[in-house]
Amino acid sequence: MSSQNPSPSTNADVPGPDALSIEEARGRILAEVKPIAMAQKVALRDALGRSLAESVMSPLNVPSHTNSAMDGFALSGLDLPEDGSAELELIGEALAGHGYHGEVSAGQSVRIMTGAAMPSGTDTVVMQEQAQELEGRVRIGSGHRRGQNVRRAGEDIGVGDRVLDSGRILTPADLGLMASLGLAEIAVFRRPRIAIFSTGDELRSVGEPLGEGELYDSNRYTLFGMLTRLGADILDLGVVPDVPELLEESLRRGAADADAVITTGGVSVGEADYVKDLLARIGTMSFWRIAIKPGRPLSFGHIGDSLFFGLPGNPVAVMVTFYQLVLPALVKLMAGREDPPLLIEVEATCRLRKRPGRTEFPRGMLARGEDGVLRVDVIGRQGSGVLSSMSLANCFIVLPQEQGDLQPGERVLVQPFAGLM
Ligand code: AMP
Ligand code: MG
Repeated sequence: MSSQNPSPSTNADVPGPDALSIEEARGRILAEVKPIAMAQKVALRDALGRSLAESVMSPLNVPSHTNSAMDGFALSGLDLPEDGSAELELIGEALAGHGYHGEVSAGQSVRIMTGAAMPSGTDTVVMQEQAQELEGRVRIGSGHRRGQNVRRAGEDIGVGDRVLDSGRILTPADLGLMASLGLAEIAVFRRPRIAIFSTGDELRSVGEPLGEGELYDSNRYTLFGMLTRLGADILDLGVVPDVPELLEESLRRGAADADAVITTGGVSVGEADYVKDLLARIGTMSFWRIAIKPGRPLSFGHIGDSLFFGLPGNPVAVMVTFYQLVLPALVKLMAGREDPPLLIEVEATCRLRKRPGRTEFPRGMLARGEDGVLRVDVIGRQGSGVLSSMSLANCFIVLPQEQGDLQPGERVLVQPFAGLM
């Protein structure tokens, strides 16, 4: 695996003393988010990825009836021999979905298959391999325990048990679980509606020819992808040139229609000034310098009832600030939850240059070595505009603010992309 270090820092990257730590920025943003309260009922399949609006209580027992955990012979535990063996009369058969309906008396047994309801009068199953079937009879040895190989009704889930908490973002397993309870309709919160646009005179949309000094807008596509995975309704307002009147119009339109407006570009020095004035007029806004790399400048606030996130223009910085700061806010918006990021500690295979004073998120490749041990290596060129590093990587390496250089073999935290939406 190739090993490349994050690009060396330039002085322009050094966070000033007024820069916010990533944790502070995240905390301030989360404090401003009011979760969506409006709920709706959807069909079970449509609930995938949505957030539960009320806790799910079980309307029934799972399993619904006491049943056999094995293929074998059902009998009363009182008929088990203490030593030697016993012979019982074989009076019938119980299959899954086709029970044995008669009463089983002392000295009798029923051949039973896994999942079949335990016949009345029985409480114990002896495995097929541990019994000997004879003509109309079955012989059982000693060493068995009364109640063995039986799953009791309600053993997994009892009537009235809380199965899933309100605010849970529903997974495929949850759909199966709710189906096992017979639930056909689920109350979920409405989807968050998010407006996005890119700013920059130099940007063209895909499908348009590129003029000199122009480049294609990629940020709306990464945002589209991340927001789609989150299950948001997306209002795409396109590319907006650096013209205050046009920016104002798009911001007002987005805010009128969406729970949050996310823009990219226009927050760096030089462009920020008129955007600052504009935002101060139409909303309440702070411009932050955040002690992270990549992704330093960010503006955050409200336009009316809508949240506003002004992300940097650089494509990698957009993804880093989205995952680190915007995603937690949107999860709180749609589900009312504040989830800490999922971080795991592994060994680094490469040297990592790191300047204390800011949290850095180099892109990494997490892989198991031939010895089976999980390790991480830096992957791709690490500039904040080099989107291919995000495409190649499968995790962020998370280097905390006070961390300095790291040597190969030292342990680092990683945040797998698989744990992100
Ligand atoms: P800005 O924050 O507007 O100064 O942009 C910083 C850098 O990111 C510049 O090189 C921009 O050309 C680039 N950039 C800004 N917006 C986008 C976008 N939507 N897609 C791709 N690159 C962008
Ligand atoms: Mg710009």
